[in-house]
Amino acid sequence: MSFSFATKCVYGNKDALKEPTGAISFPIYQTATFAHPAVGESTGFDYSRLQNPTRQQLEKVVAVLENATDAFAFSSGMAAITAMMEIFAPGDHLITSADLYGGSIRLFDNISKKNGIEFSHIDCSKEDVETFLRPNTKAIFIETPTNPMMGIVDIRKMAAIAREHGILLIVDNTFLSPYFQNPIDLGADIVIHSGTKFLGGHNDTLAGFVVTANPEIAEKMYFIIKTVGSGLAPIDSWLILRGIKTLPLRMEKAQANAQAIAKYLSKEPRVKKIYYPGIEGTESYRVCSSQARGFGSMLTFEVESRELALHILKNTKLIPFAESLGGAETLLTYPVTQTHADVPEETRLANGITDCVLRLSAGIEDAEDLINDLKQAIDSFS
Ligand SMILES: *Cc1c(COP(=O)(O)O)cnc(C)c1O
Repeated sequence: MSFSFATKCVYGNKDALKEPTGAISFPIYQTATFAHPAVGESTGFDYSRLQNPTRQQLEKVVAVLENATDAFAFSSGMAAITAMMEIFAPGDHLITSADLYGGSIRLFDNISKKNGIEFSHIDCSKEDVETFLRPNTKAIFIETPTNPMMGIVDIRKMAAIAREHGILLIVDNTFLSPYFQNPIDLGADIVIHSGTKFLGGHNDTLAGFVVTANPEIAEKMYFIIKTVGSGLAPIDSWLILRGIKTLPLRMEKAQANAQAIAKYLSKEPRVKKIYYPGIEGTESYRVCSSQARGFGSMLTFEVESRELALHILKNTKLIPFAESLGGAETLLTYPVTQTHADVPEETRLANGITDCVLRLSAGIEDAEDLINDLKQAIDSFS
């Protein structure tokens, strides 16, 4: 029996669910270790760094949602990407989107480079990716939409290049979540998620995922997660499992709110530019529509001055000024001093992240309340 997406969010892969007590909410197996019946025998669980039933249940659900075979749950999105980078070796070269989550740029340019990995950071939506390939290129790493400038990269096109040259395509799918986009169906080899964001959905815990349908990569990742020890704790696994049950409802409501906010901002004279793939007539809209089932709830906008940006951050009465995204609460972020503070100014400006740019993650509140809040904050600026 096959299930549709919303049902999988609640039940996962029903075949895989073998909770012996019949508990409807999958239990939190808060244990470090597991007793063995005899030498050479195991219940399938030995030690929670290697595997834990709650984590395994979550991994099965996330794998199913991404139409993959294997998912690995880590203690954060960055822990997932850091562990994934262990499949590469010194001397390997990766091509990545230039506009990426700031933490990924920090990881690549500091830790990974120190470990001998080379990078070319390019705009994968505009530049000819093939001209950046080297004999030692092993993968293309993209986000689409990118964080924070909402750039859209053609996943099928990147997958075709990766396949032709025998390299991997890695897609950080955090911004659209598996509800709106499934990169593996479009040819990606590895999907990354910050589970902290839409999958968890409540701004109450951190998590990250490496997802794949490639058995060779899955085997490597299983070795890595048990070795490096950054797997997700049982209680956090349970929180993400609970969050996923309402993923479709939250994604729809948050997207509707983002669209209402984008419409309001487009009429606001002091807002100079809106970066949201759901605006018809743009190239981003065309590519995003061709590969995703929605445009999501993240939008970035540029206001007329730095002073106005700071004024908005200080004067919203409902919307918190906070890092992160994808939760029930609408959040406003200032990439220059928050998510992208560690990105060199030159790179930041080249990516369009000026001190007039604000990023908004629409939550699931009432759209009118959100718009009224933004409006009073903008209107009170003189
Ligand atoms: C937040 C985020 C990450 C990092 O995830 P954490 O859970 O914060 O470690 C990676 N990629 C993207 C696109 C993100 O938004």
